[in-house]
Amino acid sequence: MENAPRERLRQHQLDRLRVLLAQVLDSNPFYRQKLFDCGFRSPQELNSLDDLARLPFTTKRELVADQASNPLFGTNLTFPLDRYVKFHQTSGTTGRPLRWLDTDASWQWWLRCWAAVYRAAGVGPGDRVFFAFGFGPFIGFWSAFESARLVGALSIPGGGMSSEQRLRSLLENNATVLVCTPTYALHLADIARREGLDAARSAIRVTIQAGEPGGSIPSVRQRIEDAWGAQCFDHTGATEVGATGFSCAARCGVHLNESEFIFEVIDPLTLEPAREGELLVTNLGRAGMPVIRYRVGDIVRLDESPCECGRTYARMAGGIIGRADDMVTVRGVNVFPSAIDAIVRQFQAISEYSSEVVRSGELDALLVKIEVRDSDGEDVAAALGSHIQRQLSLRPVVQVVPEGTLPRFELKARRFFDRRAKN
Ligand SMILES: [Zn+2]
Repeated sequence: MENAPRERLRQHQLDRLRVLLAQVLDSNPFYRQKLFDCGFRSPQELNSLDDLARLPFTTKRELVADQASNPLFGTNLTFPLDRYVKFHQTSGTTGRPLRWLDTDASWQWWLRCWAAVYRAAGVGPGDRVFFAFGFGPFIGFWSAFESARLVGALSIPGGGMSSEQRLRSLLENNATVLVCTPTYALHLADIARREGLDAARSAIRVTIQAGEPGGSIPSVRQRIEDAWGAQCFDHTGATEVGATGFSCAARCGVHLNESEFIFEVIDPLTLEPAREGELLVTNLGRAGMPVIRYRVGDIVRLDESPCECGRTYARMAGGIIGRADDMVTVRGVNVFPSAIDAIVRQFQAISEYSSEVVRSGELDALLVKIEVRDSDGEDVAAALGSHIQRQLSLRPVVQVVPEGTLPRFELKARRFFDRRAKN
């Protein structure tokens, strides 16, 4: 399906969507109610994919409320509870964690989606995949770990270890693939440097990043590739939806796995279809606990032009641009933290930074604090300031602070803060 003509792909999506709708109308209380509420009674009412727009959105808030009023797992269950074999929960960073269950068939579907990520990164027999991940109830890389055997690779778990132990394990076991967040890939490389080891001379030849946009930000990707002497691939996904996307060797965006999902993009304000905006996800192979038109919260720009790799799947140009709830407006300019990250990471001399939006008198201002290594701080600050002004149309205040004063991050970085008082 990865190379199928788009017309055939759309027919495939429509066929699978009808099957899914028949299943949820039959026995999923959550979706049966939602579909009934908008007058939708039968999958036969779906004549084309355009009819999908008749169905309601699904939001995280709705799912959280459903689980709160129908403990423990809510009503988005298509089968009796004893059919489910996997339990996970969301990290809960944006509120109460959601519990998520998968049947064996739904879990096998997850693994197939991850196999597509590995294939696109050229990972297969002979590879040893190291997972720098805690293996707690967060779904994270559990599916990636189990999926490695589908492509014939050896999986090495990195849970329950300190960063130093992980580094030693992946070096001693000659791991060839590193799977972790972009921040953690850089953190591990930093530790290697501190211990007098050269990560670039390790056996790692591929890194697969997830959890943050870094794998698609050219300057961050370059740092990871230089640090590890490897080729860096991006992957997107979420507990509620599955493994949605992956980058290929052509490096022009993140492919959306359109044989296993239907993706739509809407303007987050008008809710009308758009080329750039918020991603809606319908998964087609996770009938146990599916999502239909789920507002996953990622802001993307769709690109359906042919990819050099031959896949016909649409791409998210530049990966995930940001989270809908992360975007801030400063003096009329829409700013995503990832856009600032992309600019700052072009400066090798900046070892750490943080950025914040502050109120300065009557006006909002973007304040960027930087730590500078082996260079003149004021020169770097001036160059960064003009770069940001040119690329974001917003003049920042850049402040040089002593090395070691800004927070460091291991797993996920949080370098952006909105300090304006909220009324
Ligand atoms: Zn491609």
